[in-house]
Amino acid sequence: MPALLHPDEPVPVRLMNTIWADRSSLHDDLATVDDLGAWLAAVGSEHEGSALGEADLAAFRALRDALRRLAAFVTDDTREKAASPTAAVDEAVAEVNRAIEAAPAWPRLEFRGGHLQASRAGGGSTAARSRSSVAAQAIGLLTGPGRDELRACYGPGCVLYFVKDHPRREWCSAGCGNRARAARHYARHKSEQSTTRD
Ligand SMILES: [Zn+2]
Repeated sequence: MPALLHPDEPVPVRLMNTIWADRSSLHDDLATVDDLGAWLAAVGSEHEGSALGEADLAAFRALRDALRRLAAFVTDDTREKAASPTAAVDEAVAEVNRAIEAAPAWPRLEFRGGHLQASRAGGGSTAARSRSSVAAQAIGLLTGPGRDELRACYGPGCVLYFVKDHPRREWCSAGCGNRARAARHYARHKSEQSTTRD
């Protein structure tokens, strides 16, 4: 499950990557309310499991689709298979702002056990606050210095995004790198064969 396989990506990218592909088809890691609970737990977001409902699932999926649309815009993504159901960039922008406005949160300083700690306070349910926080982090990712490092992975059949955290990194994962090298090798081998035949 990519949400668990790519723990080093920023949380907005991990939300985008709840859509993933294998050889046969696209998969959605946010298909049910339980999936959402598992995803929130995987990214360390606070939530009350029992309080999650279909409305939260729909809202997270809408934010996810919006973020995939914006990532496609920022990375000039040409992968047809990866296209978001959110067609327009301004529609995606409105969705991000809706997620934030649904549960405005602000940083809060706490003095606990003799230590200063950062926490967040605000309105709305814990799920809505988590969504608001993912949307706020996404604004930082899409407009900050990291935006140029956001990449679509062009591994064979891949629909994931990643942040290029190393100058030589080309793929979302070692698995995609291996598949891409194998595909290149196969293509070279085939063209050599056809050259010999000519
Ligand atoms: Zn990939």
